[in-house]
Amino acid sequence: MESLRFKAINDLTSSSNGKGLGRSTKITAIFNENVFTLKVAREFLSDEAFKSLASSVKGGKKIDRAVANQIASGIRQWAEAKGVTHFTHWFQPLTGSSAEKHDTFFTLKSDGTPIETFDGDTLIQQEPDASSFPSGGLRATFEARGYTAWDPSSPAFIMDIGEGKTLCIPTLFVSYTGELLDYKGPLLKAVEALGKNAVEVSNYFDKNVTKVTATLGWEQEYFVVDEAMFNARPDLVASGRTVFGHAPAKGQQLEDHYFGSIPERVYAFMRDFETESYRLGIPLRTRHNEVAPSQFECAPIFEEVSVAVDHNTLLMDIMDRVAKRHKLRVLLHEKPFAGINGSGKHNNWSMATDTGVNLLAPGKTPKTNLMFLTFFVNTIKAVHDYADILRASIASAGNDHRLGANEAPPAIISVFIGGYLTKVLEDVKQRVGDKFDEQDEAILKLDLHRSIPELLMDNTDRNRTSPFAFTGNKFEFRAVGSAANCANAMTVLNTIMAQTLGQFKKDVDALIDKGEKKEIAIMHVIREYIVSSEKVLFEGDGYSDEWHAEAGRRGLPNVRTTPYALDAMVTERAKHIFESNGVYTHAELEARHEIELEKYIKKVQIEARIMGEMATSHILPAAIRYQNVLIENIKGLKDVGLDGESYSNQKQILVKISEHISKVSDLVEKMIEARKKVNAITDTREKAIGYSEQVKEAFFDKIRYSVDKLELLVGDHYWALPKYREMLFLR
Ligand code: ADP
Ligand code: MG
Repeated sequence: MESLRFKAINDLTSSSNGKGLGRSTKITAIFNENVFTLKVAREFLSDEAFKSLASSVKGGKKIDRAVANQIASGIRQWAEAKGVTHFTHWFQPLTGSSAEKHDTFFTLKSDGTPIETFDGDTLIQQEPDASSFPSGGLRATFEARGYTAWDPSSPAFIMDIGEGKTLCIPTLFVSYTGELLDYKGPLLKAVEALGKNAVEVSNYFDKNVTKVTATLGWEQEYFVVDEAMFNARPDLVASGRTVFGHAPAKGQQLEDHYFGSIPERVYAFMRDFETESYRLGIPLRTRHNEVAPSQFECAPIFEEVSVAVDHNTLLMDIMDRVAKRHKLRVLLHEKPFAGINGSGKHNNWSMATDTGVNLLAPGKTPKTNLMFLTFFVNTIKAVHDYADILRASIASAGNDHRLGANEAPPAIISVFIGGYLTKVLEDVKQRVGDKFDEQDEAILKLDLHRSIPELLMDNTDRNRTSPFAFTGNKFEFRAVGSAANCANAMTVLNTIMAQTLGQFKKDVDALIDKGEKKEIAIMHVIREYIVSSEKVLFEGDGYSDEWHAEAGRRGLPNVRTTPYALDAMVTERAKHIFESNGVYTHAELEARHEIELEKYIKKVQIEARIMGEMATSHILPAAIRYQNVLIENIKGLKDVGLDGESYSNQKQILVKISEHISKVSDLVEKMIEARKKVNAITDTREKAIGYSEQVKEAFFDKIRYSVDKLELLVGDHYWALPKYREMLFLR
């Protein structure tokens, strides 16, 4: 029987790849075509309904129930005009992807007359049958079920990929007792907390600021593989990464992929998912090859953080659906292939005022410079003070392969600011006197704005290894995993920033109350913050052993694995800052901690199972078949009377193969035993640690080592699993 592997290779080379590209359309002609924007709402809603919707969108106010029916029917009319028959409440559960449950507009009146309807109640609230979404014991403890509630701050949209068109209503997922069970709700709360405190601090410099929002521009990295290859790899199907596979002779050494042109077939796929994205209002702007073979990246123009998070979640879904149309698969896993680069999702983050100022853009005048320095230094202090929580926000089984390993970036949270700003902070710090004198003035008179080119030079070339880098007018949180929902990292970053700015305001006001001039008070607190947080600043090579040693001396946390990293979510400090900023209650934090641990356990459990299964039903049979061939060969040579010399090489190979065969089957047995033991642990945290240490660390690399050796030793024809070179280079 032909193996899936050879069938995949055959299909690939015999089919004409690279579907014909459709005619180019202007992006502006299709942008937002499938979104119920305020502009569309104006057309479909009465004045009253429109006003209510607009104020909910802008002011985050609750929808007036009295007009909900009108809004719902307006949305339905718009959707039906576009051929939509079904609707769904769309939300972002803690499983990491998006969730939907489709319902139709169609219904029967009491007399049996069929009609299409969509009323306000259905728009505002739904009860998905969501008992299987993770709730970390929340619903068990508090309430058995949850509901989805409309979030008018994100617009409704139409998903038009695959079968039929569906109207999607963005919602939050809430338990009956009010605990949030999704990613989006806490993010909105964190942004609100940040906004409030950032406005107060901005008002030191400009009284006209009434609103501050966080901005996010993500950069999504991903791999693309052929669908038939994907299907022939049970590990990719089950866990999103390859658990076995020998490094190809040619990997990424030449870096030719990075500079090369985008392969035709992938290009067609990109154009296609970009078109779908534009229709949904996702402002994609760049696409390019990444360092590893078959690795790519796309990035949009930055947006308000909650919109950007929705768009990233949507994009991941769209990429997945569109890839199938092209007989490709997108791998969003952080480390789908050992030995070559993994994927991240850089989160470019800043804050913007309603007066149009980017609070992390260096200023032109002393006043705007002081404002910049304030927000800049507060960010550094926030990251310094709450590095552990920030680390927890990006912890996942997949991301452990990047952060814990010798690859970008390390699990140590540090901040890169570049030589120029290091010097500026150093100068500010030197001015430790109590008075505000000419030298302080001199610092503030620096035209930081004009040195932006210098900052960029400084900050784009040398920061590759830093998890948190200042890049000219924003910070780039580079440690976020490619498969993650950015909301987690953004909720934490905005909360710790809200907390720090709140403290900053208190500290400055205390000095002003003592009669200090405002600017002097601000400068004074900035100085204090620089001194108390400078140990988080690091300009060197984040991958180096020296940095690990140095970070240890500085007392910076370096937590390599998820089960331990997650501890930071439930410390008293964490509970305090999340609660006092109105982001998470203690119960919600405990629940999330539990959910993340459970996710980790399940991921590692699946990997362990698939390893065992593949070893037993793919690897060993191939190795044993080839072993028999060698045995027959040796026997034959002996039979015809040749001496030992003539088959000594075959014997050597046979010995090696036999050794690896027994190692693999032995280790797999032992791993199953270890898993049984760990499965019996009742405490979730202990169980996660068990999976990390007694299953993953104790066995994965060892089993893989022997399997990968066998891949090299066993005749190619006998090997049933697509090899790295085939998955990475054939398309
Ligand atoms: P690169 O990092 O590749 O040099 P850019 O500096 O243009 O590219 O930006 C990278 C990402 O940062 C883009 O997604 C962009 O939208 C985003 N970005 C730029 N300015 C901001 C900002 N003020 N807030 C948030 N994201 C931003
Ligand atoms: Mg970048």
